[in-house]
Amino acid sequence: MKHKSVIIIGGGLAGLYAAHRLEQQNIPYLLLEANSRLGGRILGAQNKQNSGHYFDLGPTWVFPHHQKTQGLLKQLGIEFFEHYAKGDVLYQTSENQAAQRIKGAGELDLFKIQGGCQSLVTALHTSLEPNNVFLNHELTNIERCKNLWEITASHKGVECTLSADELMLAMPPRIIAQHLAEKQWISDVLLSQLQNSQTWMAGQAKFAVAYATPFWREQGLSGQIFSQTGPMVEIHDASTDTDRSHGLFGFIGWPASRRSQMTQQQLKQACLAQLVSCYGPLASDFTDYYLKDWASDRFTCTASDKLESSRHPSFTLSNHKQALRDLHLHFIGSEFATVDPGYLEGAIDAVDRSAYFT
Ligand SMILES: Cc1cc2nc3c(=O)[nH]c(=O)nc-3n(C[C@H](O)[C@H](O)[C@H](O)COP(=O)(O)OP(=O)(O)OC[C@H]3O[C@@H](n4cnc5c(N)ncnc54)[C@H](O)[C@@H]3O)c2cc1C
Repeated sequence: MKHKSVIIIGGGLAGLYAAHRLEQQNIPYLLLEANSRLGGRILGAQNKQNSGHYFDLGPTWVFPHHQKTQGLLKQLGIEFFEHYAKGDVLYQTSENQAAQRIKGAGELDLFKIQGGCQSLVTALHTSLEPNNVFLNHELTNIERCKNLWEITASHKGVECTLSADELMLAMPPRIIAQHLAEKQWISDVLLSQLQNSQTWMAGQAKFAVAYATPFWREQGLSGQIFSQTGPMVEIHDASTDTDRSHGLFGFIGWPASRRSQMTQQQLKQACLAQLVSCYGPLASDFTDYYLKDWASDRFTCTASDKLESSRHPSFTLSNHKQALRDLHLHFIGSEFATVDPGYLEGAIDAVDRSAYFT
């Protein structure tokens, strides 16, 4: 059985950043990721017209006060720029009426990452020793044996077992709870807290469209649409600042239950029709379009996340700190952060504040 000082489960931002820190400190570790890709909720669709730009289907924005995220981007040499929000906004109240144009209401004080959030995943992955990262390794069991962690993972249907001194779970609370139910070393209070903590944005879906030109900007529009009809309730400019990649993205407001009654193609067509209804025929001249329904991603969203309306997570680990320290167990996903839980910033904060790194 392979043994390492640390095993990290989950290759989203938290898991990758933890691995990056361990790598810098020369601490032997392994990172196991269930998916065939890294990034977790960070997911980009590569623009065929400009291979250096990925349209964000997960997170897009870095907020001005997200200093840890900005610091990490600078450390990794990744540029970020101000989100384009100049010009007028459209407001859609009904499918049958033209969207109203509202003057100059589009100011947003947000940053976007050059190339998309995928740049952060690529840079962190590049900083790691490739043999320490196992893709397609889904955690199936966790056991505590003689002061060690014994981890079983399924790799393309074949089980493998690994051991570690320290275990870092870089997954959302409800996904962790699925693996810790009925374990005697975890208290009922902590388990129920994990089960009741929503994964931020897990029940959401996002749509992005690529265009050769930013036709909305040329009409004095910011790209922002707010809609009461949907499918998208909020639409924004998804272009880079370099004039080489243009597009729009929207948050789909129709709930997961309604989306599950449609095929992906029907939902994509409904999103495209909404854009044409707001912007006219130029909106049908797209070069590509992409949809990600996070509610059907079993490594992100649980049945409870699908049912609840979206709310910001707040997880209090303080009552369990000593028990977790004694177990050498670390919860490092974004929802466990003290500052900005649920956000990219939270993923970095949760790692930095874990008992292992403090
Ligand atoms: C649509 C959307 C929009 C968002 N917008 C923003 C935004 O604009 N700004 C912002 O700051 N944040 C935003 N967020 C939130 C941001 O994406 C998250 O805070 C951040 O990516 C969480 O990182 P994480 O590593 O903690 O968790 P995750 O990214 O969820 O990573 C968990 C990882 O664990 C893996 N995993 C799960 N189960 C197993 C298993 N059994 N075995 C092995 N691996 C497993 C998963 O595959 C995944 O890779 C958004 C999220 C979504 C979905």
